[in-house]
Amino acid sequence: MVTVSEHSGFCFGVRRALELVKKACDAGKQVAAFGPIIHNPQVVSALEKQGVRQLSLPEEVQQDDTLIIRTHGVEVEIAADLKRRAGEVVDATCPFVAKTHRLAKKLSEHSSLVVVGDAEHPEVRAAVSNARGEYFIVSSIDEARYLPYRDSYGVIAQTTQSETLFEQVLDALKTRCRLLRAENTICSATHKRVKAAVELAKKVDVMLVVGGNNSANTARLRCLCTAYCPKSYHIETEDGISADCFEAENIGITAGASTPIEHVNRVRDYILKRKNNGK
Ligand code: SF4
Repeated sequence: MVTVSEHSGFCFGVRRALELVKKACDAGKQVAAFGPIIHNPQVVSALEKQGVRQLSLPEEVQQDDTLIIRTHGVEVEIAADLKRRAGEVVDATCPFVAKTHRLAKKLSEHSSLVVVGDAEHPEVRAAVSNARGEYFIVSSIDEARYLPYRDSYGVIAQTTQSETLFEQVLDALKTRCRLLRAENTICSATHKRVKAAVELAKKVDVMLVVGGNNSANTARLRCLCTAYCPKSYHIETEDGISADCFEAENIGITAGASTPIEHVNRVRDYILKRKNNGK
């Protein structure tokens, strides 16, 4: 049996960003995106074919561009620079991410800011660019345990972080400060996706997690599934399925937030076809 997990496919933030890009393209605008609009190489390349330029430096922006800011947002100084250079800026930052960035600013006004997340992730880089003072980024409980003692810490999480890690960091920080302020900024879409994937991973022999190799939330989802189904694999497309998967009786499929449901269904159909052909 091949089962697709509930809540697979694009999340609200990704769908919204792609609709904004489509709206700009349909209006005949010269569209460019600053950084990959979402972490899915196949979707980004399809957009490029429609004429959406991918930029990595503000200097590449042209005056006539309608510039799309990606779902993860950008650093405060870069956003200001982009606004000066582009004819129009469309902010496709996911509203949940934007809320995290606002909280980074607010909490850091009276506390040292701690962001639970990946230091290199664009969402986290954008969050800490809002900090009013000192900030720390932690990606493990050990990093939290060794933070210096402070009067007050204000803690947020990257929207796609693990709830367990967020809680463990909060626990560790209780002994590192007098006052702990925390805002759980992990988005509800992530929460539902992870819960459904873990439930499915408990019941299957092989778990396939579909998503871009550059997608941190897909990699994290694979890690979580491995705890319940040791044969859990991160694949970008059906080409990445290893031969032994086809021998498994029960196969589960889930996907990162930036994976179209069509990609998930393609993987499912490919497995079913191979299994039927083998009979
Ligand atoms: S995973 Fe959540 S925070 Fe990230 S883009 Fe999707 S809805 Fe927004």
